[in-house]
Amino acid sequence: MKVLKTIDEMKAWSRKVRQDGKTLGLVPTMGYLHEGHLSLARQSMSTCDRTVVSIFVNPKQFGPNEDLDTYPRELEADRRQLERLGVDALFLPTADDMYPKGFQTYVHVEEITDQLCGKSRREFFRGVTTIVLKLFHIVQPHSAFFGEKDRQQLEVIRKMVDDLNLDVEIVGLPIIREPDGLAMSSRNQYLGKAERKTAQSLHEALQQAQQLVAQGESSVATLRSRMRTIIEREGRAQVDYISVCDPQHFEELEEIQGKAMIALAVHVGKARLIDNCLIERI
Ligand code: AMP
Repeated sequence: MKVLKTIDEMKAWSRKVRQDGKTLGLVPTMGYLHEGHLSLARQSMSTCDRTVVSIFVNPKQFGPNEDLDTYPRELEADRRQLERLGVDALFLPTADDMYPKGFQTYVHVEEITDQLCGKSRREFFRGVTTIVLKLFHIVQPHSAFFGEKDRQQLEVIRKMVDDLNLDVEIVGLPIIREPDGLAMSSRNQYLGKAERKTAQSLHEALQQAQQLVAQGESSVATLRSRMRTIIEREGRAQVDYISVCDPQHFEELEEIQGKAMIALAVHVGKARLIDNCLIERI
């Protein structure tokens, strides 16, 4: 596996891939890799001739009181996992290379970034779209792979690609979970033993809501209150939002008719956890 540490090295490598007539897949990550990340890399490897995984803890997507400094980093273990998987290249840019002194250009997707995570993380999506667009320009992939765990992020990226006529296929892939249902996340690392148990309640709440809808429940107020009860049961979780919304624009619903998304963001100890699922009431 080629380890590329500068933008110039990355550009030269991907230029060669394209010159050779090969397709290129990109998997952007912030590292501390788990099975969720690896599932994206595997999918890229099965559909593209070459796969590059990027690891960059993007300072522009962290707010001033967020966990940029403590975000888990384990570069050597990540490198070994990707090598074992058979990924072709690992891109490891530095913050100084990505955001040199004087950097002042950002990409902002409007409206859909005002909802859900955008309400409590004001800088987040602007940071995400800016880094993803930079990565697209540097790597010039044919396809890029993202997880549905961050479904709002996935839709924001799709919107950017659509609005700016970018020539890259965006592939969204299902949430990978721990055996007990907790969505895998690098931030799960922050959870102590009791918190880890509380964290399971997010998935439990989603399942309960899905079950209620399957039984005919259509009132969002009822679903929200049942989910909140489950999540707050042990007194260790602090809900940021419990949303039942339309899956494209993330506007809150009152009644479920047809497709909807349930999305949660919950603070458990130092971790801010998110999870979501799609539902359909026929
Ligand atoms: P991150 O390193 O957390 O920025 O995530 C990098 C990519 O991996 C994003 O596209 C995430 O949506 C995706 N991802 C993270 N966790 C999971 C998971 N549990 N299942 C599927 N994809 C995931």
